[in-house]
Amino acid sequence: MGLDALVHCRCAIDGRARRSPSPFVLAEEGLVCDESLGLDELLAFDRWLQDGCSHPGMHYRFTHISNWADYRRFQARVQRVGPHHFPTLHSELPNANGGWTSCSQAASSLDELAQLVRSTEEWPVVKLVDVDSGVVVAERVDAYDGVLVLDGTEGWRASLADDITFYVHGGSADPTVLFRAAEFTQIQIGDGSWKWTAPSGASFSCSNGLPIYNDEGTPSWPSYLRVVEGRGGVADVRPVTEALRDIFEASVAIDMPVHWM
Ligand SMILES: [Zn+2]
Repeated sequence: MGLDALVHCRCAIDGRARRSPSPFVLAEEGLVCDESLGLDELLAFDRWLQDGCSHPGMHYRFTHISNWADYRRFQARVQRVGPHHFPTLHSELPNANGGWTSCSQAASSLDELAQLVRSTEEWPVVKLVDVDSGVVVAERVDAYDGVLVLDGTEGWRASLADDITFYVHGGSADPTVLFRAAEFTQIQIGDGSWKWTAPSGASFSCSNGLPIYNDEGTPSWPSYLRVVEGRGGVADVRPVTEALRDIFEASVAIDMPVHWM
């Protein structure tokens, strides 16, 4: 869950892989064949992709970049430090799964990343934290008006506000506040449903819990959350900048594009 990135090895392009069962091209999605081929030919092509050379899946590098929450925090820092300083990062980094970045753009991105991580600027940031572990569950991103959760079924939104509160409201067409608290408990009350309860006793039940993710991307749901005003800076998103550096370096090393997925 989140953003991954792939750089294919050069074996197929350079003719060092086993002979492909079908013609292929290097496209936005990776190494692909003509999709109008028959099922047997498509399956044969897939098998060739898996074991056509010494690199499993013909992956030179496959990197999990980040979960979406931390990736948005990274993007917010690019915005904050100044997107005009980082035109390639601003234009090339994806906002959703899919797309690709050329090797030359990866090289420019590497230069801009190196400049970004030198930034020592810090600024106030409203954060939602897991009280037990101190882990940041989410952060207010001004570009999204602080919205953390957009419920696609019922239309409500959960946001972090500048007044250091977490609140649920009816959405853009209905600003009615359904729940507001500076700290609250979160319990799972059923399969896929959670209940948030403020110290006042006010509560809100929903199908979108507020998770935190470990390094493998596995979610867990903190039971006690608090909104705080802390400091933010580029150093906070080091795992994301490191993962991006890793994939851009792989791209530049073998002159192959980055595929976002
Ligand atoms: Zn290979």
